[in-house]
Amino acid sequence: MPTSSFTSASSAVPCPVVESLDAILPEEPLLMMGAGPVPIPAAVAKANAIVINHLGGTMVKVIGQVKSMARYVFQTNSKWVLGVAGPGSAAMEMAISNLAWEGTRVLSIKNGFFSERMAEMGRRVGARVSTLDVADRAVASLEEIAEAIRRERPEIVTVVQGETSNTVWNYHLKEIAELAKAAGALVIVDAVCTLSTMPLEMDAWGIDAVITGGQKGLSSIPGVSLIAFSDAAWERVKGRTAPNAHWCLDASLAENFWHNAGYHYTAPVSGVLALHEALRLVCAETLEKRFARHLKCSLALQDGVAAMGLRLYTPEACRLNSVVGIEVPDGFSPADVCSHISRMHQVEISGSFGLPIVRVGQMGEQCREHNLFRTVHALGRTMVDLGVKVDLPAGVAALERGLSGAR
Ligand SMILES: *Cc1c(COP(=O)(O)O)cnc(C)c1O
Repeated sequence: MPTSSFTSASSAVPCPVVESLDAILPEEPLLMMGAGPVPIPAAVAKANAIVINHLGGTMVKVIGQVKSMARYVFQTNSKWVLGVAGPGSAAMEMAISNLAWEGTRVLSIKNGFFSERMAEMGRRVGARVSTLDVADRAVASLEEIAEAIRRERPEIVTVVQGETSNTVWNYHLKEIAELAKAAGALVIVDAVCTLSTMPLEMDAWGIDAVITGGQKGLSSIPGVSLIAFSDAAWERVKGRTAPNAHWCLDASLAENFWHNAGYHYTAPVSGVLALHEALRLVCAETLEKRFARHLKCSLALQDGVAAMGLRLYTPEACRLNSVVGIEVPDGFSPADVCSHISRMHQVEISGSFGLPIVRVGQMGEQCREHNLFRTVHALGRTMVDLGVKVDLPAGVAALERGLSGAR
């Protein structure tokens, strides 16, 4: 028989019966107040619904604007800004896999889960990675870092600006970069959660590669990320002899698309358009005002949580403002709190990789007064519902004092 019938061919793997998204998604979207992804502005959502030619003249113009806006957000004049189709971790792997290879000496300042990921990526490209293991809820002193640099003589130092997992802020990033630079090492900074929420000056602080994702501080969608290399870092990328084993993440190939209007792989056009809008909104607001908004909102949230009677996880000196860690009361797990607040109050917050905390994000659109009132109220009511003694009115009052500048 030369032809087979369509009906007999369709029986081997039967067509599944599935529900429509309308049936799966809640009627009212949950308020995304966890450690990312975060709510997106309407302009970002609108851009994300558009598909255009990834190589046409419109795209060339969009890419040019994305790069120039990204230079402002990274605070760099370096030409070498690129995007990547993938999560923040893809940008991280792009930094590591282009700058490190077999035998490269990498010193990884390890504050927690995400800074350890950079070390692991280094090991996987064959680098000789040493870690400076920092205690939970603390940062390494500059003396410890200087000593580790003397001991390990790294070609590359990796450090996270905000360790989202345990909500620690590496507040002396500038000094760390200075120490590394003085020892002739390149510095890679993970700014996935912090970029555009707090100062980071790539050029002025002498940083050689900065990475970020879309779905955190920038309030874009997940899946399209950004990286910037300094001239010195780019020279190292171009000077390597063995090509990067990660073809998709090869910065020299990515240069084709991000700088020469050519083809590398089909760019995630909708996500790039969304990122364009997210960056445009950052520029419209200005970094100064955006940092001030984030600081005010996060401190007001912290005041509200503390006034309610809950404990903040990280000491004030190294507390990350972009993601706030809150201790879970004895007898409860983070999952108890997260599932109750989601189910009963339609607010999503995060647990944290085995730590006894829940985390509330303060990134991008999360830092809006109405979102904070709803979140503090929902968190307080969750505690009341679970039988934990808290003073919810005191929490809301402290939040209001912080937001109205009466702190
Ligand atoms: C979220 C996060 C990452 C990972 O980003 P993905 O988009 O999940 O890959 C890396 N580093 C930090 C500091 C983060 O907050």
